[in-house]
Amino acid sequence: MVTKCKATTAAGAPCTAQPLRADGFCFWHSPAVAAERQAGRRRGGRARSNANRARKDLPPALTPAELQQVLGSVLRGVIGGRVAPNVANAWAALGRTLIAIREATEVEERLTALEAAAAEGQPPNRWRA
Ligand SMILES: [Zn+2]
Repeated sequence: MVTKCKATTAAGAPCTAQPLRADGFCFWHSPAVAAERQAGRRRGGRARSNANRARKDLPPALTPAELQQVLGSVLRGVIGGRVAPNVANAWAALGRTLIAIREATEVEERLTALEAAAAEGQPPNRWRA
Protein backbone atom coordinates (compact mmCIF):
# COMPACT_ATOMS: atom_id res chain seq x y z
CA MET A 1 0.00 0.00 0.00
CA VAL A 2 1.30 3.44 -0.93
CA THR A 3 1.51 5.89 1.96
CA LYS A 4 -0.51 9.08 1.51
CA CYS A 5 -0.12 12.55 2.97
CA LYS A 6 -1.79 12.95 6.40
CA ALA A 7 -3.42 16.29 5.47
CA THR A 8 -6.94 17.11 4.34
CA THR A 9 -7.39 19.30 1.28
CA ALA A 10 -9.26 22.62 1.34
CA ALA A 11 -12.16 20.75 -0.26
CA GLY A 12 -12.26 18.40 2.75
CA ALA A 13 -10.94 15.29 1.01
CA PRO A 14 -7.85 13.38 2.15
CA CYS A 15 -4.71 14.53 0.34
CA THR A 16 -3.59 11.87 -2.15
CA ALA A 17 -0.02 13.10 -2.60
CA GLN A 18 2.86 10.95 -1.41
CA PRO A 19 4.63 12.25 1.69
CA LEU A 20 8.23 13.22 1.01
CA ARG A 21 9.21 14.26 4.48
CA ALA A 22 9.57 12.32 7.72
CA ASP A 23 6.59 14.19 9.18
CA GLY A 24 4.23 12.25 6.87
CA PHE A 25 3.10 15.29 4.87
CA CYS A 26 3.56 16.03 1.18
CA PHE A 27 5.50 19.04 -0.09
CA TRP A 28 2.38 21.20 -0.07
CA HIS A 29 1.11 20.25 3.39
CA SER A 30 4.33 19.82 5.37
CA PRO A 31 4.22 22.09 8.45
CA ALA A 32 8.01 22.46 8.11
CA VAL A 33 7.60 23.95 4.65
CA ALA A 34 4.69 26.09 5.88
CA ALA A 35 6.93 27.45 8.64
CA GLU A 36 9.56 28.35 6.04
CA ARG A 37 6.92 30.12 3.98
CA GLN A 38 5.59 31.94 7.05
CA ALA A 39 9.10 33.12 7.92
CA GLY A 40 9.45 34.35 4.36
CA ARG A 41 6.20 36.31 4.60
CA ARG A 42 7.35 37.95 7.85
CA ARG A 43 10.49 39.13 6.09
CA GLY A 44 8.39 40.38 3.18
CA GLY A 45 8.22 43.99 4.31
CA ARG A 46 11.99 44.38 4.11
CA ALA A 47 12.57 43.41 0.50
CA ARG A 48 10.17 44.20 -2.29
CA SER A 49 12.16 43.15 -5.38
CA ASN A 50 10.79 40.42 -7.67
CA ALA A 51 13.79 38.24 -6.83
CA ASN A 52 13.11 38.49 -3.11
CA ARG A 53 9.41 37.81 -3.62
CA ALA A 54 10.25 34.69 -5.64
CA ARG A 55 12.80 33.51 -3.07
CA LYS A 56 10.45 33.73 -0.09
CA ASP A 57 7.76 31.67 -1.83
CA LEU A 58 10.01 28.63 -2.16
CA PRO A 59 11.63 26.60 0.59
CA PRO A 60 15.42 26.49 0.31
CA ALA A 61 17.17 23.53 -1.34
CA LEU A 62 14.38 21.98 -3.37
CA THR A 63 15.42 18.37 -3.88
CA PRO A 64 14.97 16.65 -7.27
CA ALA A 65 12.15 14.56 -5.74
CA GLU A 66 10.40 17.69 -4.45
CA LEU A 67 10.80 19.42 -7.81
CA GLN A 68 9.29 16.37 -9.52
CA GLN A 69 6.35 16.41 -7.11
CA VAL A 70 5.76 20.13 -7.63
CA LEU A 71 5.84 19.78 -11.42
CA GLY A 72 3.58 16.71 -11.25
CA SER A 73 1.11 18.67 -9.16
CA VAL A 74 1.24 21.57 -11.65
CA LEU A 75 0.58 19.12 -14.50
CA ARG A 76 -2.42 17.64 -12.66
CA GLY A 77 -3.61 21.20 -12.06
CA VAL A 78 -3.47 22.00 -15.78
CA ILE A 79 -5.32 18.80 -16.65
CA GLY A 80 -7.91 19.53 -13.95
CA GLY A 81 -8.32 23.15 -15.09
CA ARG A 82 -7.05 24.62 -11.78
CA VAL A 83 -3.72 25.90 -13.17
CA ALA A 84 -3.47 28.17 -16.20
CA PRO A 85 -1.19 26.86 -18.97
CA ASN A 86 0.97 30.01 -18.85
CA VAL A 87 1.61 29.41 -15.14
CA ALA A 88 2.56 25.80 -15.93
CA ASN A 89 4.93 27.08 -18.63
CA ALA A 90 6.63 29.29 -16.05
CA TRP A 91 7.01 26.31 -13.70
CA ALA A 92 8.41 24.18 -16.55
CA ALA A 93 10.95 26.89 -17.40
CA LEU A 94 12.02 27.13 -13.76
CA GLY A 95 12.38 23.35 -13.60
CA ARG A 96 14.57 23.33 -16.72
CA THR A 97 16.66 26.15 -15.25
CA LEU A 98 17.19 24.26 -11.97
CA ILE A 99 18.28 21.17 -13.89
CA ALA A 100 20.64 23.24 -16.09
CA ILE A 101 22.19 24.84 -13.00
CA ARG A 102 22.68 21.43 -11.41
CA GLU A 103 24.30 20.06 -14.57
CA ALA A 104 26.54 23.12 -15.02
CA THR A 105 27.63 22.89 -11.39
CA GLU A 106 28.49 19.23 -11.85
CA VAL A 107 30.51 19.94 -15.02
CA GLU A 108 32.31 22.81 -13.26
CA GLU A 109 33.27 20.56 -10.34
CA ARG A 110 34.55 17.83 -12.67
CA LEU A 111 36.51 20.35 -14.75
CA THR A 112 38.10 21.82 -11.62
CA ALA A 113 39.16 18.32 -10.55
CA LEU A 114 40.62 17.62 -14.01
CA GLU A 115 42.53 20.91 -14.06
CA ALA A 116 43.92 20.29 -10.59
CA ALA A 117 45.02 16.79 -11.61
CA ALA A 118 46.57 18.07 -14.85
CA ALA A 119 48.50 20.75 -12.95
CA GLU A 120 50.04 17.97 -10.84
CA GLY A 121 50.79 15.88 -13.93
CA GLN A 122 48.59 13.15 -12.56
CA PRO A 123 45.38 11.63 -13.95
CA PRO A 124 42.36 12.24 -11.70
CA ASN A 125 41.70 9.64 -9.01
CA ARG A 126 38.91 7.98 -10.94
CA TRP A 127 41.30 7.18 -13.85
CA ARG A 128 44.02 5.58 -11.74
CA ALA A 129 44.26 1.83 -11.62
ZN1 LIG B 1 -0.69 16.70 1.20
